[in-house]
Amino acid sequence: MTNITTDFHMHSTFSPDGDDSPAVLCQAALAQGLTAIAITEHAEWQPDAGFTGLPETEVYFAEMARCRAKFAARGLQVYTGVELGNPHQFYDEATWLVESYPFDVVIASLHWLNGHNIHMPECFADRDPYEVYTEYFIQLARLASDFHFDILAHFDRIIWRGTLLGIGFDPHRIEWVVRHALATVAEHGRVLELNTRSVNDPDNWNEAMVTMFRWFREAGGNRVVINSDAHRRGEVGRNRAIAQQMLAQAGFTYPANYFQLNPAIQLDMAA
Ligand SMILES: [Zn+2]
Ligand SMILES: [Zn+2]
Repeated sequence: MTNITTDFHMHSTFSPDGDDSPAVLCQAALAQGLTAIAITEHAEWQPDAGFTGLPETEVYFAEMARCRAKFAARGLQVYTGVELGNPHQFYDEATWLVESYPFDVVIASLHWLNGHNIHMPECFADRDPYEVYTEYFIQLARLASDFHFDILAHFDRIIWRGTLLGIGFDPHRIEWVVRHALATVAEHGRVLELNTRSVNDPDNWNEAMVTMFRWFREAGGNRVVINSDAHRRGEVGRNRAIAQQMLAQAGFTYPANYFQLNPAIQLDMAA
């Protein structure tokens, strides 16, 4: 059982790696019993990303306006959004994008470390994995302090990649640097996302995540969000019941500590 009925991080075909249209994702959200979603497309400036900025921004907003009108009548609030890859390292470009378009929610992610995509095994090549994790969390603190955004996405993603390589992860081994990054996220008022893509997989994952969310709370962090990061219809709203249990174990209560978007504010801004 869960009372989470939102999902503010997912990708449609306006992202290079998304499989379904915004309308199909909206339909999937309704089927999951969700009441509010944001469709947050990738924006990247790293040369190896294969694209620059957010391609087709105008077409995306036109399509989102259509979905917003169509699905509001069926009880689903549809919000616009963007997931910025390493925006602190592409400050001018990322600032231009978020100031030029009326995104309802701005997500930031660390997708790149030392020029390598963190989803790829190359970022661990010939390195001590805990040294790589340490560098990652140092960069995460810079991202949280140097760029203005709402939600920090999948702060655990590189560890997930490492664990798939059989490296494993014990947060206590690099406790000071993880705590420093999470304290910086808290200090700057960012929302910390529990990304449900890797929940339960691999083993011991949830325990490590609960530990790190507890450290976030101990550092003064008080706003969290559960997001699926869906790239196709079947992933919308996934694993949110277990995610809510994990956040409760870490000391976060619903709805007091949960990020929300306010439809009234959005309508005021549009007027
Ligand atoms: Zn991402
Ligand atoms: Zn994403």
